[in-house]
Amino acid sequence: MSNTLGFSWQNTYTSLPDVFYTYQAPTPVSTPDVVILNNKLISALGLDFSCLDSKELAAIFSGNQVLHKCQPFAQAYAGHQFGHFTMLGDGRAITLGEHLTPCGQIVDIQLKGAGPTCYSRRGDGRAAVGPMLREYIISEAMFALGIPSTRSLALVTSGEDVVREEYLPGAILTRVATSHIRVGTFEFAAMQQSSNLLEALVDYTIKRHKITLAEGDNKALVLLDDVITKQVDLITDWMRVGFIHGVMNTDNMALSGETLDYGPCAFMDVYSPDTVFSSIDHSGRYAYANQPMIANWNITKLAETLLPLIAADIDTAIALAKEHLSKFTELYEQKWLNMMRAKLGIFGSEATDSQLILDLLNWMQKNYLDYTNTFCDLINQDRLSYGPYQSEEFLAWYKRWHERLGQNNESLDCSYKLMQKTNPLLIPRNHRVEQALDKANEGNYEAVYDLLTALKSPYEESKSLDYYRALPKNSERIYQTFCGT
Ligand code: AMP
Ligand code: MG
Repeated sequence: MSNTLGFSWQNTYTSLPDVFYTYQAPTPVSTPDVVILNNKLISALGLDFSCLDSKELAAIFSGNQVLHKCQPFAQAYAGHQFGHFTMLGDGRAITLGEHLTPCGQIVDIQLKGAGPTCYSRRGDGRAAVGPMLREYIISEAMFALGIPSTRSLALVTSGEDVVREEYLPGAILTRVATSHIRVGTFEFAAMQQSSNLLEALVDYTIKRHKITLAEGDNKALVLLDDVITKQVDLITDWMRVGFIHGVMNTDNMALSGETLDYGPCAFMDVYSPDTVFSSIDHSGRYAYANQPMIANWNITKLAETLLPLIAADIDTAIALAKEHLSKFTELYEQKWLNMMRAKLGIFGSEATDSQLILDLLNWMQKNYLDYTNTFCDLINQDRLSYGPYQSEEFLAWYKRWHERLGQNNESLDCSYKLMQKTNPLLIPRNHRVEQALDKANEGNYEAVYDLLTALKSPYEESKSLDYYRALPKNSERIYQTFCGT
C-alpha cells in the first residue's frame, strides 16, 4: 500500500489512436506548498497518503514528482467558443493517469496549471491561485449540492508568480473526473475526416461511461441519447440552484454529464433570468436563462460530428439526428417543471402548476428578490412576516400555493421536507467567494477553509449560515467575474 498510495493506474485513453493525445510530463515548479487536501475524497478514491510528509505531497500534487506507472498526457480537442470553431487541447492541464476506484469506476487524475503542452498555443500552461481556488470551492460546493461535477482533490501553490494583468501567485489544482471527454473531443475527431477515428472515440466513450448497448442498436444514437439525458438533468440542477456556468463552449461540456471547467462561473443572487457574470460574455450568450438552449446547441454540434456513424446516407443520418435532438426541449421542459414543483413542495401534477411557478418567479424578479433565500423563506413563518411578503400580490399567490399543496396526496410536512432537500440554504455566494479569494491572494487561506467547511452541508441549518446567506451590500456586489486564464 505505502509504495502505491492506493493508486491503481489504468491506461485506457492512451489506447485510443495517438492523434487524441500527446505524452507530456508536468513542468516542475520551484517551491510547491500544499494549501488544501481533500481528505474525504482521498479516502473515497481508496487512496492513502498518511505515509507522506507535506514536502512529498507537494511534490506529487505539483507534478514535480511523477509517480511510478504514471504516463502523463495532454488531450487533444477542439471546440466552439462563443459560437466560433477553434482547435484547442489541454493547454495547461495534464492527466497523470486514470485510477480505478474501489467502486470500480475509472477516474482521470489531472493537474491543472501543470505547465505548457503542445496545445498551449500562446499560453504559459500555468494557472493563478485565485481561479484554481474558485474551481476548488465551486466544484466541491456542487458536489455537496448533489449536482454532478468534476471534483477537486488538492491545491498547491507553486512558489512562482504567473503573469496576467498583474503578477499573481501560481497554483496547481488536482482535478478528478469521470472522464474529460468533451463535445469538443468529438469535434476534434470529426476534423480528422476519418470514420475509424470517430468510431474509436464513440466506442471508447460508450465503454468508459458504461453506456448499455443492446443488440442492433445504433451506437452513435445511443450515445447521443445518453448525452441528451445527462445534460437535461445537469442543466435542470444548475437552474434549481441558480448556477451560471459562464463559458458553456463545446470544449467545456463533458459527455459524462459532470459540470466541467469552472471559469467565470457564479451563482445568481437576485432572481433575474438574464443574469451574466462573465466579463467576456458581452452578448449574454451564456446568461442564466439561456443555459438549456445552449446545452441543446452544443449537443447539436455533437450530433453533427456523429452523422457519418448514424447512417451511410447523409439525409437519413440528418433526419435521425434531428429526431433524437428534438427530444431535448420536451425532456427539459418536463424535468424543469418537476424540479420547480419540488422547490415548491408540490407532488403530482396539475395543469395550473406552470402558471403558479411562473407567477412566483415573475414576482421575485419584479421585487429584486434573492432566488435562493426566497424559496427557503416560504417555509419560515418568521421571515414571511415582513417586506414584500406582506404585499397583496404575494399574499394572493401564497393562498393559491397553499390551495395547490392541499391537492397533494401528501401532508404539508412532506411538502416542507421535499422543499428542504430541493432548496439549498447555502450556495457559494459570489461576494463571499471573492472575499475569500482576495485574502488567499495575500497568502491567508482561513476564509477559504471556513467557506469550504460551511459549503459541505448546504441543506442544513447551522450557526455560520447567517454570514453566508447574507446578500451582498452594495459595496460588495460583484457584477463581473473573470476567467483569469
Ligand atoms: P478554458 O477557458 O479554461 O476552458 O480554456 C480554453 C482553452 O485555453 C483550453 O484549450 C485551455 O487549455 C487553454 N488555456 C487556458 N489557459 C491557458 C494557459 N494559461 N496556458 C495555456 N493554455 C491555456
Ligand atoms: Mg476549458
